[in-house]
Amino acid sequence: MTQQAISGANFIGGQWLPAASGATFESVNPADPGQIVGTFPDSAADDVHAAVDGLVKTGPEWAATPPERRARILEAAADHLESRAPQLIEEMIREEGKTRAEATMEVGRTPMNLRFYAAEAVRSGGSTYPAAGNTLVYTVREPVGCVGAITPWNFPLNIPSRKIGPALAAGNTVLFKPSEITPLMGQRLVEALLAGGLPTGAIALVQGGGVAGAAVAADDRVDAVTFTGSTDVGHAIHQQVGPQRRAQLEMGGKNPTVVLGDADIEMAAATVVKGAFGLSGQACTGTSRLIVVDEIHDALVYAVVARAEKLVVGSGLDSDVTMGPLASAAQLNKYREYVAAGLAEGAVLRTPEPAMDDRAGFFARPVVFTDATPDMRIVREEIFGPVLAVQRARDHAEALELANATRFGMSAAIITRDLQRAMDFAHQSQTGLVKINQPTTGMAMNAPFGGYKASSTQTFKEQAGDSMMQFYQSEKTIYL
Ligand code: NAD
Repeated sequence: MTQQAISGANFIGGQWLPAASGATFESVNPADPGQIVGTFPDSAADDVHAAVDGLVKTGPEWAATPPERRARILEAAADHLESRAPQLIEEMIREEGKTRAEATMEVGRTPMNLRFYAAEAVRSGGSTYPAAGNTLVYTVREPVGCVGAITPWNFPLNIPSRKIGPALAAGNTVLFKPSEITPLMGQRLVEALLAGGLPTGAIALVQGGGVAGAAVAADDRVDAVTFTGSTDVGHAIHQQVGPQRRAQLEMGGKNPTVVLGDADIEMAAATVVKGAFGLSGQACTGTSRLIVVDEIHDALVYAVVARAEKLVVGSGLDSDVTMGPLASAAQLNKYREYVAAGLAEGAVLRTPEPAMDDRAGFFARPVVFTDATPDMRIVREEIFGPVLAVQRARDHAEALELANATRFGMSAAIITRDLQRAMDFAHQSQTGLVKINQPTTGMAMNAPFGGYKASSTQTFKEQAGDSMMQFYQSEKTIYL
């Protein structure tokens, strides 16, 4: 496949366009930042407003499109993504820094999401209610209008497809603002939808960073904003959207894995390492805290460190690599800042001190700290990198207390052979997702997904479940 830099564009009013100002930004390969993946429009509020102008005009036509046709379009877009999979895998590795296995998984999952929502386009209906005499009371579901989708870089196809898929299935127009770290993946998804036959008036793509994202949230003609990203940005968006419009926010995490004394040490270590260092620690559900009871603390730490040190860090284009680079220079700086903070706060580094890598890419070695305490930044704050803080607990009761002692509530895991303790933990964990004898990462595509506390808006969960389509639909009650 070609390594030529791509010249990307916005898609506004049915046309591929540069930013009105002519400003651009570059997407680079995090394993080799001198290599430019593409140049994209650095959009401002003007571009966003032009995109919304177009969508407002074309919205009614798309809303009136029969659900069967919407479903066929999503299916055809899925076919297109599948036919292009080898190219998309290469491009995802180059643009985001995933390993080949991680990119293959995501590129495979994305068309499955679109097919799932295609089925939803024709399934999701209303209800009828008992009424007096020969009268009829029934509900219909209508599209909300224009949906703004603002997405992060760490699943640059999968996350947008879980927002754009249901939004289009329900008959909404979509204003898509992908992450500025992975604009090419955003463009590829829009290309697939258009190749599947999506009317050009049903979608707009606006590339750029926070300025463009904030303009999407601020435009009150955008009826609903679905966002995945950091908690601070999510809360700012929530304020902008206000009470009159809808917001769905999936945000950060500080996910614990609790390991009890009866656990198999090697199985526990493998599970923790997968959850902590998969995706180079850059998953919202990634394990960032390991809470382990005294009796197996030292043995488990030894096994985790041994496995972490075996990870091969490098470019995902190299077949033996098991941990890719971090996605950006900002991510690398954050990782370095938290390693320094852990050392300064008195946590004990169990992996070799991460040398400032002399390779050009944004590479980071996995880091394990023990003696981490609840007051430390490495325990309290989301790092979103390969840094694991190990906390010691006296027993399962203290482990649960430590697990819940965070403002976040995304995912939590417990490793034990004791079913009763596992179930107690599952029911008392203050998280939207609980995994038993599994990593905190890795979710089913057909089950509800979302966090508690500062990790999510709990009114509207993403993905599957009964409430999945509610965010993208208004329900009207009609009396006849
Ligand atoms: P981010 O918050 O920096 O950016 C996310 C998106 O918001 C990007 O498109 C960005 O351009 C845009 N943006 C930035 N500032 C904005 C503003 N002021 N107004 C509107 N939009 C703005 O997050 P990121 O670095 O791309 O992703 C990492 C974060 O995402 C982590 O906190 C991670 O936990 C979270 N995440 C959460 C989930 C989940 O489902 N809960 C999934 C993946 C990632």
